[in-house]
Amino acid sequence: MKNNNTDVFISGGGLSGLIASIAFAKNSFSVVCVDRNKPEFYKKTEKNTFRTTAFLEPSKRFLDEIGIWQYLEKYSCPMQSLKIVDTTKSDNKLDIKTSKTFSNDNYSIPLGWNIKNSDMLSELYKIASKEKNIRFHSDTTIQEFETLNDYIELKLTDGSQYKSKLLIGSDGKESFVRNKLKINSISKDLKQSALTFGIEHEYNHEHISNEIYSSGGPFTTVPLGIKNDGTISSVVWMDSENNTDKLINLGRSEFEKKVNERSANILGKLKLISDPQIWKMHTQVATRLISYRAAIIAEAAHVIPPIGAQGFNMSVNDIKCLLKKSLDPSYKLGETRMLLSYERQRFIDMNLRVGSVNLLNRVSRTDNQILKRIRSKSIDFLFNFKPLKSSLMSFGLGSK
Ligand SMILES: Cc1cc2nc3c(=O)[nH]c(=O)nc-3n(C[C@H](O)[C@H](O)[C@H](O)COP(=O)(O)OP(=O)(O)OC[C@H]3O[C@@H](n4cnc5c(N)ncnc54)[C@H](O)[C@@H]3O)c2cc1C
Repeated sequence: MKNNNTDVFISGGGLSGLIASIAFAKNSFSVVCVDRNKPEFYKKTEKNTFRTTAFLEPSKRFLDEIGIWQYLEKYSCPMQSLKIVDTTKSDNKLDIKTSKTFSNDNYSIPLGWNIKNSDMLSELYKIASKEKNIRFHSDTTIQEFETLNDYIELKLTDGSQYKSKLLIGSDGKESFVRNKLKINSISKDLKQSALTFGIEHEYNHEHISNEIYSSGGPFTTVPLGIKNDGTISSVVWMDSENNTDKLINLGRSEFEKKVNERSANILGKLKLISDPQIWKMHTQVATRLISYRAAIIAEAAHVIPPIGAQGFNMSVNDIKCLLKKSLDPSYKLGETRMLLSYERQRFIDMNLRVGSVNLLNRVSRTDNQILKRIRSKSIDFLFNFKPLKSSLMSFGLGSK
């Protein structure tokens, strides 16, 4: 990049912002990306935390298409199946009431993959740093920007200035870009939190992710390939804010005991291998995805609870769609017709997925006995009624 004109300017170099930067750069667009984090953030500083991202097969295909997958594969664990487990409580102990396993019809293709966020971020950062079409500014944010006819003029906190044909807001749920563009979003506090941590377990995970329902929210184990014997998984435990606040304040051995109780012995005896981290849950959907010469993607556009591996998958779909429109010769980069077409296409998929995840969350957290009975029956029905199962599977897999 010889001068300070760029095709695309991306605010936010998290998972989505870095993937978007690499995707556009590999397709010959010049890209500037800024993130408020310092470079050390990307150097596996979170080695001992177990926040992972489970993503579906179509997202992996896209990462492959843009040349990223070859660097991520060694850190990723394939997920062959998803086991939905419903439980019942007797004598203060959780017993399995029903369990059904969902896999691809073609078993040789995994349902998805799981990777530690720290590994993915540090690899993406390395790729972006070496890519000649990307200029990455860490420890930097946009100070101000002005929208003109043919470009957006941006001033950064490190003193640099750029003119860009397209501004992409990928700066997370509090998005500076979204707020500056005065795009509203509809938010709902779910009064739930998610606890994330790593476990070592007695039984082999056999590349199965278990989603265990009781009340308060699902307890999900997701396989990791850190040890060859299949005994390490990450966990996302969703529950009411009241319960998670109590759980996070327990001593390590008391917490481990609760984890063992909540897992319904699905993987045998569990040992905690990291401290838990807590994440407040809410849903948030932007009312617009575009403004003049600007678009928002990923958590700047939609935030959902981590159920069914949909969040990151939706973010990849945003990037895929925006890239496709940018490459379409019938549009000029960043023009309003192009952006309207992006918004129209993404709104349909986005709202469908947000609605489905919210419904699943409501069903999984219920304490109501009648709803719990319906839940078990629905899992059996879904499993036994092939057309419905297939179409839900392909929706989950992102092929619809
Ligand atoms: C506990 C938990 C578990 C999850 N698990 C899964 C899962 O298993 N599968 C799945 O599909 N999804 C999951 N998700 C959702 C998934 O993490 C997100 O959808 C995905 O990471 C997209 O994030 P993002 O890049 O938009 O946001 P972020 O990762 O938050 O990145 C935003 C970036 O913007 C930067 N930034 C913010 N403000 C500014 C600014 N003003 N200027 C410059 N930079 C800025 C931040 O530093 C950050 O790097 C999970 C979410 C949570 C909370």
